[in-house]
Amino acid sequence: MFDIKAIYEASSVEDAVRLLLEHPEAKIIAGGSDVLIKIREGRMAGCELVSIYGLDEMRGVTMTEDKDIRIGSLTSFSHIYADPIIRKHVPVLGEAVNMVGGPQIRAIGTIGGNTCNGVTSADSASTLFAYDALIEITGPEGVRVVPIESFYLGAGRVDLRAGELETAVIIPKASYTGYHGHYIKYGMRNAMEIATTGCSVNVKLSRDKKTIRDIRIGYGVAAPVPMRAKKTEVEVRGKDVSEETEKLIGKLVLEDVTPRDSWRASKDLRLHLCSTLAVRAFREAVRRAGGEIDG
Ligand SMILES: Cc1cc2nc3c(=O)[nH]c(=O)nc-3n(C[C@H](O)[C@H](O)[C@H](O)COP(=O)(O)OP(=O)(O)OC[C@H]3O[C@@H](n4cnc5c(N)ncnc54)[C@H](O)[C@@H]3O)c2cc1C
Repeated sequence: MFDIKAIYEASSVEDAVRLLLEHPEAKIIAGGSDVLIKIREGRMAGCELVSIYGLDEMRGVTMTEDKDIRIGSLTSFSHIYADPIIRKHVPVLGEAVNMVGGPQIRAIGTIGGNTCNGVTSADSASTLFAYDALIEITGPEGVRVVPIESFYLGAGRVDLRAGELETAVIIPKASYTGYHGHYIKYGMRNAMEIATTGCSVNVKLSRDKKTIRDIRIGYGVAAPVPMRAKKTEVEVRGKDVSEETEKLIGKLVLEDVTPRDSWRASKDLRLHLCSTLAVRAFREAVRRAGGEIDG
């Protein structure tokens, strides 16, 4: 049924690196929810696979000594959603991955697969951008850690070199402490639907909740890869928590994003969504942070 030339099962991360170097044409398979569909459709027919799915060392959520949150790349969406560390410190990530597909996909799909497929609509990605996440990569030279923004090289392309695999996603303590956020996925249906556009906003407010100390606005499907609305963020930092600022965000983000027409939605609809979702996600993030916007 599946046209697979060979499958090599890794027994450890080091073994996966060895297998990837020994079989340079082989593709990694984790949960397989992307890979198996591509094989069945013929787009990866006759491929060699290195399976990492059995590597429990790459599964689970932990708090490091420095209070960074480390999510093993094989951790499934349903695990992330239910995890107490995620719920307490980065709940927006749990909420975002709980919008992936249906229960079966969330049980098998992994955060590593969702980031390594390089897809702009991946539900974890915009929220990981809004959390300034880091990607841990292990390969023949050892471990390197890169900001998620530089991990994405282009549509469907990520910064993985020969023999390398993603071993964890890290959310540094400074990136989540004091931040509150919200993710909105716009799709044509509520379930089993990839995002037409998604927006994740994190804010840090002043002690009196009247000023925006910091803001991060992450998008999916607003450009060929997930992205941040950096120019808007710079303009909005230090502004009042107000309806005026909310409107400013809705206007400014249009200068940051570069959505395209696709069969799923027109560029114009996506521009409208980029503005509207940012405003709504900002409003909810402010509410969660204990602030209030009149109007
Ligand atoms: C019916 C259905 C509905 C879906 N709905 C959604 C949705 O709503 N939102 C959404 O975001 N996604 C959705 N998806 C896509 C999919 O479930 C996710 O992209 C999933 O996270 C992929 O994880 P996986 O472990 O199954 O990856 P796999 O299919 O095993 O791999 C995906 C890609 O990543 C690479 N890879 C995987 N793990 C690693 C690693 N650790 N290091 C290096 N490379 C790696 C593989 O080589 C491959 O290129 C859906 C899929 C299906 C089938």
